[in-house]
Amino acid sequence: MRPPPSSTSAATINDGPPPTDPKFLANEQDFTKLPPELADIDWSQPISWGKYAPYPPSDDTATTNESGERIAPPLPLTPENTAPSFAPPHSALTFHIHATSGRARYTTLHLPHGPVSTPVFMPVGTKGTLKGLTPMEIVEERGDGEASAGGPLNNEIILANTYHLALQPGTELIREQGGLHRFMNWDRNILTDSGGFQMVSLLKLAEITEEGVTFDNPFQELESSGNEELSDNDLDDTKDAVSVSCGKRDSSCISDTGDSSKSSSTKSQRMLLRPEDSIYHQNNIGSDIIMALDDVVSSVSDDKTRFEVATYRTLRWLDRCFSAHRRKHDQNLFPIVQGGLDVLRGGLRDVCLAGFRLRDFNAPGYAIGGLAGGESKDDFWKVVHHCCCALPDNKPRYLMGVGYPLDLVVCTALGVDMYDCVYPTRTARFGVALVGGEAPGTLRLKSHSCAADYRVIMEGCECMACCDGNGKGGYTRARLYSMLKNDNPLAVSLVTHHNLAYMMSLNRGMREAIKKNSYGEFARKFVRDQFRGKENGGQDVPSWVKDALHAAGISLEI
Ligand SMILES: [Zn+2]
Repeated sequence: MRPPPSSTSAATINDGPPPTDPKFLANEQDFTKLPPELADIDWSQPISWGKYAPYPPSDDTATTNESGERIAPPLPLTPENTAPSFAPPHSALTFHIHATSGRARYTTLHLPHGPVSTPVFMPVGTKGTLKGLTPMEIVEERGDGEASAGGPLNNEIILANTYHLALQPGTELIREQGGLHRFMNWDRNILTDSGGFQMVSLLKLAEITEEGVTFDNPFQELESSGNEELSDNDLDDTKDAVSVSCGKRDSSCISDTGDSSKSSSTKSQRMLLRPEDSIYHQNNIGSDIIMALDDVVSSVSDDKTRFEVATYRTLRWLDRCFSAHRRKHDQNLFPIVQGGLDVLRGGLRDVCLAGFRLRDFNAPGYAIGGLAGGESKDDFWKVVHHCCCALPDNKPRYLMGVGYPLDLVVCTALGVDMYDCVYPTRTARFGVALVGGEAPGTLRLKSHSCAADYRVIMEGCECMACCDGNGKGGYTRARLYSMLKNDNPLAVSLVTHHNLAYMMSLNRGMREAIKKNSYGEFARKFVRDQFRGKENGGQDVPSWVKDALHAAGISLEI
């Protein structure tokens, strides 16, 4: 069923990260010049490949109907429970699409550590743990002992952050322990990010050159800045991580650039992460899906030249990632579409996509990056739509860093399969619960209105908080209010569990609706419940939601 483990891969990883190919570091390069392999592209045509109905046909799939018109053929579907083939060239992944409803897809992504049903939300376990929960709790079964398929959480994949793991405990240590799955006692799938985004977003100190991302040790920053640059929870993670990293366990792979202007106590403050290093770390970690290191620019930056350079560099770095990847047989390397908010024909998103089309043979799946960084919702959905219209239908699409329930419902309509976000777990740590039902949205359990509210967070929810597992009712809002006010850590675990159960149940609802070919109805109901209109004391549906769903073929006017 699964690809056999390779005994030879560990030996090659033992050699450390490969050096940078000198051809990438030539001084005379003009980084604002379009990569030469894209010189012959006809930019007046849409960039797309591997497209099936209801998308317009792409050159590689187009066929003609009886009237001689060029059309896209129907998407080939595979029955549920079909065994994965793990056929080359991507022997660590088999992608089965079971049903579609408009552009929304219900699929199974078979990975080395079991199947993943999509649409899927992947919770973020920064350093290999979901704070407040054990691995057992996130795969838990129903209280009645039924198979785990119906459990309130039943996570099939989680995300871990390479940057944090590289600093502490160090990825070589994780490899020596048998990989992150064994290290954290989790035998299902793991996706890791490349580490680059963390540096840019957390530290705001990164300098990006052709060789890689150079960043300052945040330990020094913490001492001098009063921590204002870092967010609450990330600060904890970063502080922990760096105090241990001074042991330089992984100093061979996050290189010390030796800034001599600093005192000896801060000598290792400058560090370099190259594409080769990022892949080396992720090969050590052994995650099932690994991400290419890309050149990330804040989506709200207005520096057009910087975006151009970053998009072209992302293609060069992708080639370096592919050639550094030593575990193709059991790890899947996903490229990340960049290009800012430029969705014009021949714009930067098209440039990146055209580059990926040329490299498609190497990619088992794709991610859409550079979003969820403060751009307008109008820009956001247009980029997602543009990428979904271009990327091939026979590979999974992962939208990075997106996790508000409404975003999931809209982007699934546009054709996204996978999501991740810290939001549901982070907001839980502030005592905020996600709720559906009569009044969907968020519930602030620390608000005084909960002090004497004897209802559970959400009626019908099967999580540990709402239904304590023995069928005798769960924790009331009043009790959670009191526990949170007293900083009882159990309360945070309970709310975290609830929020993840809510996200999982939302995913299940989306999958069921797609299976019945009624995703349009599902999305309409979700949006109408959330936005009841000003005349009913609620809010009107935002125009971006209407426009995005309209682009996906779903009208809210019915
Ligand atoms: Zn609950």
